[in-house]
Amino acid sequence: MNIELLGGRNEIGGNKILLEHKGTRLFLDFGMSFKQSALFFSEFLKPRKCAALSDFFELGLLPDIEGIYREDYLKHMGRSAENRLVDAVFLTHAHADHAQYLHFLRTDIPIYCTDATKIILQTLENTGSNDCSDLITACETFSFYRNKKDGLSRVTRKNDEHVVSRDYKIMQSNERVRIGCLEVEMVPVDHSLPGSCGFIIYSDEGNVVYTGDIRFHGSHGELSRNFVGKAKSVKPTWLVVEGTRINQDDGLSESGVEQEIKACIGKSAKGLVFIEFPIRDLDRVNTIYKAAKDNNRSFVVNLKLAYLIKALGDLCPFSLNDVQILVPKKSWGLLDKLGIEQKQVEQDYEVWERDFIFRANSITHEDLSKNPQKYVVTMSMWEIGQLIDIKPQGAIWIKSSCEPFCEEMELDEERKKNWLSHFKIQEYKAHASGHALGQEIREMIKEIDSQYVIPVHTEYPELFE
Ligand SMILES: [Zn+2]
Ligand SMILES: [Zn+2]
Repeated sequence: MNIELLGGRNEIGGNKILLEHKGTRLFLDFGMSFKQSALFFSEFLKPRKCAALSDFFELGLLPDIEGIYREDYLKHMGRSAENRLVDAVFLTHAHADHAQYLHFLRTDIPIYCTDATKIILQTLENTGSNDCSDLITACETFSFYRNKKDGLSRVTRKNDEHVVSRDYKIMQSNERVRIGCLEVEMVPVDHSLPGSCGFIIYSDEGNVVYTGDIRFHGSHGELSRNFVGKAKSVKPTWLVVEGTRINQDDGLSESGVEQEIKACIGKSAKGLVFIEFPIRDLDRVNTIYKAAKDNNRSFVVNLKLAYLIKALGDLCPFSLNDVQILVPKKSWGLLDKLGIEQKQVEQDYEVWERDFIFRANSITHEDLSKNPQKYVVTMSMWEIGQLIDIKPQGAIWIKSSCEPFCEEMELDEERKKNWLSHFKIQEYKAHASGHALGQEIREMIKEIDSQYVIPVHTEYPELFE
């Protein structure tokens, strides 16, 4: 068995783990490395599209190996067609540091994941605006089609015949699939994203356990404990284990976050409550929903979260009708102008947003201003301009997300503080991490008792010795 870390070594995320055994080759995750990317690029300096994969190869953002990348990109770079040299990708969850670079892979590589993971990737593809969101389908790039005037036009997503669906295979809990000489089992774990799982890979030379991202203090800690029990029972030779917080030994649990948010709203909020959180962390979404209800307030979601709740359907513990949807003014801002046709208002919004503008539970900044004590409102730095319309009085802001971990995030946080002080908004904090604590990781390693331990997704691999 050959286990190669082509990303995720000495860094948090960017996991791309290549398993190779007797001619069978699998990837475990294929994510983006934020650390490597930030060394060379920023918001306004991006890898050049015209270079296809070259910028990514040159600067170590992607491994330059044969038989895995999409043909349109290789052709544009002048590389000849390659045969497929990987049998499948197994995806633990839809966070960008595990899944974003699926965009660059050949479309004929089967991708195995849970149903929730696929739904989240689909919402990212539909609502994403970057150059890297061909996650579920791929649109042929750098090619032309013959238009009605018999000239050449560049292919876009509107040209259906140039959009290919990737080959997704949905796995059920504890389902096993055979890929060449390996067998892979999907085992759900608890993490800060719905549909997260780990994998157990069976071979005639010994078994491999891969944790993906894992925690024990979330709303479904029992899943992770069950994973550890299962992993132990297969007597693995190798354990590929995440170690984001190997150097930390304290932090809140998800139920602790719920208590804090409930108390904070009850004690400190006279007017509106704004809350900032990772919107795809469904456990947190549910925590906030419950905390709002407990305080007789409605939970107000933004358009992206409304879209996700609708897409998740029964996988979400409540329905879209149980919350209110805040529709912001966008583009020309015709939403609150009188005598404008509905069709004209819709032009202000992306196609996927239009479904949420005129629902019975859609509200605007005017509703928030009129009844501030009735709502807990989803808010982030990227939508904060709405405060100017809302004109909050005596509002509070609860930060329920991680602390900044790079310079760019620190600058954003400073800017946010200026907004809050401008509107005299008091800030409170309550957050639980998506990752296990050091002590929990050590106990998990001891319990699983593999022959070898391979740390990934950590800046402190030496602490695993
Ligand atoms: Zn991760
Ligand atoms: Zn993650």
